[in-house]
Amino acid sequence: MVEKKLCFIGAGNMTRSITSGLVKSGYTPSLIHATNPSTEKLDALQHDLNIKVSQDNLAAAKDADVIILSVKPHFMQAVCEQLSVLDLTDKLIITIAAGITASRYQDYFAQEITLIRAMPNTPTQIGVGMTGLFADGKISQDQKSICEQLMLSGGEVLWVDTEAELNQVIALAGSSPAYFFLFMEAMLDTAKESGMDETKARQLVQQAALGAAQMVIQNPQLSTAQLRENVTSKGGTTAQAINAFESGNIRGLVKQAMDDCVARAQEMA
Ligand code: NAP
Repeated sequence: MVEKKLCFIGAGNMTRSITSGLVKSGYTPSLIHATNPSTEKLDALQHDLNIKVSQDNLAAAKDADVIILSVKPHFMQAVCEQLSVLDLTDKLIITIAAGITASRYQDYFAQEITLIRAMPNTPTQIGVGMTGLFADGKISQDQKSICEQLMLSGGEVLWVDTEAELNQVIALAGSSPAYFFLFMEAMLDTAKESGMDETKARQLVQQAALGAAQMVIQNPQLSTAQLRENVTSKGGTTAQAINAFESGNIRGLVKQAMDDCVARAQEMA
């Protein structure tokens, strides 16, 4: 596939994750342009990835085939209104902001645009990300392929049929690396309190997390409940730990966390 000229508006964490993935997978750095109001992150991106950087959203977007909107949701309206002076007819716009619906973008730009909503997560930076994608009916197969190509450099992609489903993607994959970090953080705090060396504890926890994820991936025929039961001997140590989680209502907490995550995405719409 022919490489397109890309413009990332906003040079924060997600832009770094996605552009790192692209450059690592061989995308031509000079075709990638990132913009940001302050220069510190731009300098770092240019230094680390050799991509083009500037503080000029309009010039960068005008020159691009694909514009990736990568600012926080509360800056999105201002950014879109700024870019709306451009003729966007032949450009593909990809937004990675949580919440804001496709119809809101149409209003912000006040012109017919071609838009894909993408919901990546931070492991995109190391090639094991997960990105949910949503496009409305106006998108061509070619435009879908361009977006997929960009996001596949950071890991896996999954198209969803509705924006409601995209909010589920946020709860299940966009935000969830933080849930797993929190869980590991709590385990490491406990190990520290009991006097364990931090480096040793981290090695144990990270390898167990990796192993658990690989067990799920490599045993698609087994449910996660089955995998858990397979390591839980009756009356054994794991059973004690699982009992503590269940009596602390871990399932209710997870449900609450995911419902709150989706509700927040709905509020931002
Ligand atoms: P971030 O680190 O705060 O990056 C956003 C960047 O946008 C900042 O560097 C900010 O600049 C810049 N910016 C602000 N106003 C701008 C403007 N008018 N023009 C150009 N750049 C501007 O945020 P992030 O974590 O990368 O998130 C970006 C988007 O990705 C958000 O909409 C978020 O919902 C979405 N997202 C995030 C995750 C995640 O895991 N973090 C996952 C999926 C989706 P300064 O701060 O330097 O002023």
